[in-house]
Amino acid sequence: MGTSDTIAAIITAPGRAAVGIIRLSGPDAVRIGAALYEGRADLAQAASHTIHYGWVVDGRAARRIDEALFLLMRAPRSYTGEDVVEIQCHGGITATREILALCLRAGARLAEEGEFTKRAFINGKLDLTRAEAIMDIVDAKSEAALSQAVAQKSGVLSARIQAVREDVLELIAFIQADLDYPEDDIERLDDDALRTRTEACAAATGGLIRSGQRGKIIREGIRLAICGQPNVGKSSLLNALLGRERAIVTDIAGTTRDIVTEYLTIAGIPVEILDTAGIRETADVIEAIGVERAKDAGAGADLVLYVVDAQRGLDDEDRAFLASLGEKPCLLVVNKVDLADASAVLDAWQGSAVAISAKHAGGLEALEEKIAALLLEDAAIGTGQDAVVSNARHLALLERTEDDLESFIQGLELGMSKDILVIDLQHAWENLGLITGETASEDLIDTIFSKFCLGK
Ligand code: GDP
Repeated sequence: MGTSDTIAAIITAPGRAAVGIIRLSGPDAVRIGAALYEGRADLAQAASHTIHYGWVVDGRAARRIDEALFLLMRAPRSYTGEDVVEIQCHGGITATREILALCLRAGARLAEEGEFTKRAFINGKLDLTRAEAIMDIVDAKSEAALSQAVAQKSGVLSARIQAVREDVLELIAFIQADLDYPEDDIERLDDDALRTRTEACAAATGGLIRSGQRGKIIREGIRLAICGQPNVGKSSLLNALLGRERAIVTDIAGTTRDIVTEYLTIAGIPVEILDTAGIRETADVIEAIGVERAKDAGAGADLVLYVVDAQRGLDDEDRAFLASLGEKPCLLVVNKVDLADASAVLDAWQGSAVAISAKHAGGLEALEEKIAALLLEDAAIGTGQDAVVSNARHLALLERTEDDLESFIQGLELGMSKDILVIDLQHAWENLGLITGETASEDLIDTIFSKFCLGK
């Protein structure tokens, strides 16, 4: 990870544009910048954070390439923490490329993907979560995703993780001191205190994991499956939600044989809807395949809308399907309330439910509100105020940390020896450090930064 060389890249998008920027970073950045500069300033001696107007020149060919502004930022007050020179020239492909070529000829090396940000990380300018947030900002596909990434960049997530990590370290220190100096008169934590404090760490970790599930919803959207028996109005509901005809609506039971996929947004959340064939035990082979796929779709969805007919309510088949969903979030949709009173069905149902008329577009707003409430649980999400885990790598490590902490608590209950138990806490501490980058290996760091775009 040597940072002794000087790297260069075009950091603006290629193509026609008003301005193109070439960035140099490293010990020779100022020397190389000065070698390319023609103008009134003495660039090599210029103060940090100054801008110099002039020309980019190819000294060998005694040729002016382009009119440009040279921005000088000396270490450590720069993006990378190294000496940085940014050359703002005219946009387009030719000028920027020629200038980059001059930088390389003068001794710079072409930067790899994410190398500027990697140097910022190595020089302690930002931790891994904040560096990764930069990539998320660049990639953000919605406003909510952007505000999440900006919050992460500002360090809210690293602060939360650091806090848990410090608590875990303190617990390790207590246990270790107890093991190493059993005779000495030192402050000790009894098992109850150890347990309570580990539980608090696990709860904080769990909170971040749940925020991550919601974060994923905001960034990637959700899959929603519409399930229910034939003719309850699944296709009608899909059409009502879409506000247009897409699935074929018929009176004949079992005509929706395949799964229809549609996309829409509900409360700002991108939603992929799967309208499934009627869930029904059947002898018809084609339909049987449809039913199997419906069960799979239900299993693969983030949320199931289970539709029943207000005139019929729930029967054993419905209950069996609902039971098969287990913990999966599910909303009971009692349809056709224009034909029958739904209150008996609603009263008998313990979970979330909403009454609608798909055919007459009644109750759809309440349905959408309920969906959003079920998915997001609390309204704070998406405002960018709180730490939201939005990265799969972070989420996986948090889940491992939670497992480590729970395993410690279990071991404590079983009365296992502390010198073995403390290993769980050490793992938790390491896993949290992998998130912020403090315990990350060179390989991991390289992999993460290689996903960045060139010039970042
Ligand atoms: P699916 O088999 O569950 O997809 O059900 P469909 O959407 O094909 O609907 C079956 C029948 O019920 C059609 O004739 C629809 O017009 C009718 N239907 C659906 N929703 C309603 C509703 O809210 N009120 C009334 N009166 N009829 C409905």
